[in-house]
Amino acid sequence: MILTLTLNPAVDTCYYVKTFQVNASNRSQRYYKTAGGKGLNVSRVLQQLGASVVATGFLGGLTGQFIAKELQKMALHSAFVPIKEDTRNCLAIVDEQGQQTELLEAGPTISPQEREQFLSLLTDLIEQEAIKVLTISGSLPGGLQKDFYKSIVEKAKAKKILTLVDTSGEAFSEAIKASPYLIKPNLSELEELLSKKIESEEDAAQALQELQTFGIENSILSLGAQGSMARCGNALYRVQIPSVEVKSPVGSGDAMIAGMAWAILRQECYEEMLRIGSTCGVVNAMNNKTGTLDMEQFSTIYRQIVVKRL
Ligand code: ADP
Repeated sequence: MILTLTLNPAVDTCYYVKTFQVNASNRSQRYYKTAGGKGLNVSRVLQQLGASVVATGFLGGLTGQFIAKELQKMALHSAFVPIKEDTRNCLAIVDEQGQQTELLEAGPTISPQEREQFLSLLTDLIEQEAIKVLTISGSLPGGLQKDFYKSIVEKAKAKKILTLVDTSGEAFSEAIKASPYLIKPNLSELEELLSKKIESEEDAAQALQELQTFGIENSILSLGAQGSMARCGNALYRVQIPSVEVKSPVGSGDAMIAGMAWAILRQECYEEMLRIGSTCGVVNAMNNKTGTLDMEQFSTIYRQIVVKRL
């Protein structure tokens, strides 16, 4: 079973408008609300792949209730800690030219009691023999220390649970100190982590090599429409993806994490893990809805992914 962590989930509302004007009333006939946050995107993709998954994190207020109901509708197993403050709202406004304006709330502050409650829930969950893989995605809400993910990776490792980390900034630079099983930065996240520019495949290979000092088994550098590069064990890989008609690449990194977590649970080899993860990323980009996989597209794209050992 795979446990997914979403500590700062969001109700994502997307408004479609003809044109978007500041300092004016903008009307929208078409809008969608979804249970968002990177870890919930991962959970959705995992469920579509047929993996058994449990989602955990914090939920509060009416926005939290909305997310809980959405998860129930999807029949997704979840165990969230209720909090006093409201789960955040994130708004996206998309016009007919495809231009997107976003408004993202910072989110709630977790109290010390809520943090302790979560840690005890997490201990209960990872004590269960069934949990083999843990995904940690997204930003940390206020009230939690920057090394919060690091301590979770350590807890999971003590139970031989393989952890995938997909975050940024200080939470990321702290988490890698605990040597998670897999990390998947994109270009800007890896540049920020190593405080240097990556401008060529040679630079990327060198950067992935540098990460070896942290004792991380799998470091994947995702490159959007350019596919990815990876160092798995001692081998370096280049993953080439087909060019496709892109509807929305939002959440492709989350879909990739889900695919790789699923492959890891099934004890697939590195190449297969990269192929499944990349397929999920590409198929997500081919769909409008974040974290949605069309399984027919999955089979077609899967056959077109090329994983080359360098
Ligand atoms: P993140 O969302 O974390 O920034 P990426 O944008 O690098 O991650 O996407 C992860 C993976 O999803 C890529 O390696 C690729 O396989 C797929 N992907 C992302 N964007 C596109 C795109 N525009 N076209 C095709 N595949 C994409």
